[in-house]
This record gives sequence, structure tokens and C-alpha cells, in this order.
Amino acid sequence: MTATSQKILSPEEIAVRAGEQLTFLHLPEPGVFAERALRLRALAAGHAMGDFLRFVAELADAQHRALSARVAVPLPAFEQIDAAARAGQPLLPALHWPRAPVWRESLRAMLTDLASHLAEGPARAAARQLSAASDEHLETQAGRLLSGVMLGLDLASAPLIAAGLQLHFVRLVQQTAAAQAGAPVAPFGRIDDPTACPCCGSPPVASVERLGAEGARYLACGLCATQWHYVRIKCTHCQSTKGISLQSLVAADGDDTGTAAAVQAECCSECGHYLKLMHPARDNGLEPVADDLATLTLDLLVSNPDDGPGLQRHGVNLLLLFGEADEAPPPGRGH
Ligand SMILES: [Zn+2]
Ligand SMILES: [Zn+2]
Repeated sequence: MTATSQKILSPEEIAVRAGEQLTFLHLPEPGVFAERALRLRALAAGHAMGDFLRFVAELADAQHRALSARVAVPLPAFEQIDAAARAGQPLLPALHWPRAPVWRESLRAMLTDLASHLAEGPARAAARQLSAASDEHLETQAGRLLSGVMLGLDLASAPLIAAGLQLHFVRLVQQTAAAQAGAPVAPFGRIDDPTACPCCGSPPVASVERLGAEGARYLACGLCATQWHYVRIKCTHCQSTKGISLQSLVAADGDDTGTAAAVQAECCSECGHYLKLMHPARDNGLEPVADDLATLTLDLLVSNPDDGPGLQRHGVNLLLLFGEADEAPPPGRGH
């Protein structure tokens, strides 16, 4: 670097410089749902939750077909992009960004398509039933799902609603990024809260040591599938760097040892929370949402250990919700 003059960098130059060190953001790829479906099918073979994983694979396939249809969604205006950037807030906060009616139309179309790919049974009936539900019902359920309110949430249809919301927010992020390419203010970048998705403000589903990033750790959004950089060995809930330990499943329980070693729980003794940490280098094809679903036994191990108190799960997987112990279970939910 020369010392001739102080120069203010343009956003493009800043992006290039940041890219030389580490890419902060990886936005969802066009094949995000197809990859997830592929991974779910691979994980389903011989798995205790095989039927559920295969159902979610069908759902991800339907999401992929819907995303490929390139339906346009209303995008943020320049004033909104500018305001979010100045405030250090995510541009498309899932809880507050007005959901355009197109999300419901797309959800219904996706459910009809999904039902045509499923054999007769409870899953097909649930897809058909939800596609006929009122706008009000879909909005109420979506609101509860995004805000983590388990009371009154219909758990049977929650994964279907979640799939529709994932589709909508992936579209929003992808189409906003495409529309703003080269614009003076980048729509997505660092926000004040490093633990929340910089695009939609959602909590991560898991964290991933990305391949080709020299072991750098990224948090993966459970809603819009964006991945953002977050330093290693630091709690993703309270941001403490003390008291961090890793737990993984032991091979003795008959689990696939390759998969078990590739997914660990990063545990924080300061706040008592954990988030899964995934290593694609140890298991090629790993996908955060799919591998989180397939490693439920790790959640059970960490949250209900034989010795001592359990830790609380921090990651949110909208396709498989965990009820909070201090909340009343929804009616009809047996154990
Ligand atoms: Zn997100
Ligand atoms: Zn913590």
C-alpha cells in the first residue's frame, strides 16, 4: 500500500478488499432447496427418522420447483435499504417485514404440487387441507412460527407453513440482491447484532466451517439460508468467549460415525446454550438444515445428559420445532 494520499474507498473497493480477507456474506444459491433435498434423502437411508427426513426431502423438492418458477416478489425501495444500512438493522426483518400476498399464493401452489408427489396418507391430507385454509389462518400461523410462539401453533402444518416462508424469504433476498447489484448502498451487510441473520434478522439454525474458507465459521440462517461470518470459539447466543466446549455423539450407539464426527454441539457454560457446529470437510454434502434434523440424538444428549443439568438449544429449525419447557404444550400434543 502506498502512503501518497488518504482515499475514501467506494463500496465496490471495500467489497473487493473484504473479499481478499474473507467473504462476510454468502447469499442463498439458486440450488439451495435441491441440495437440501438431496442431502435429506442420503441421510434418510437407515435412519430412525427416515420417514420424516424423506417427507422433508419431498417438501424441499417442492420448494425448489417453486423457486425455479421465478415468481417476482415486491422488493424494498432505496429509502428502506438506506435506512436499514444506517441503523445497522437487517433489511428484511422476518417478524416485521410486510408479507406480500404472493407468499400465500405461492404456498398454496407449492402445497398442491407437493400433494401430487405424495402417496395417499396423512402428509398428503395435511398439504391439501392447508392449501384450502383461509388467508387469516395462514397469516396467524406464520406469525406464531416466526415469533416462536408455540401456544396455538398447529404443529402438524407448521413445517408446511415454514417451507412457504423459507421460499418467500429466499426469493426476497435473491431478488433484492439481483436488483441492487452495483447500487451505491449494498442491501445486505454487517448489522449491529452479529448473532442475527444480516438479511432477515432470524436466529441461526446451526454454524458451519465452510469449505475453502480456511476453517472460518459461518452461521446459517434457518429462514433465508444466508450464511454470515462469525468468529470461532465464541458463543452464538451470549457472545462469550469463555467456557466454550464441544460435544459430539460417541460411535458406540451405532450411529454413523462419519456423520456424528462432522456435527458437534458448541456448548457455552456462561449462558447454558448450545448451537451445532458442522464440518463439511469431514462429511461432503453436509447441509445445515438437513443435518440438523438428522442429528436430533445430539440435541437429546446435550439437553438431557445423564450427569448434571442440560443445555438449552439456541438454533431454530423451523421444520422441526421444540416446545419450551416453561410453556403449556399445545392441545393434543402427546408424549
Ligand atoms: Zn436470513
Ligand atoms: Zn453463551
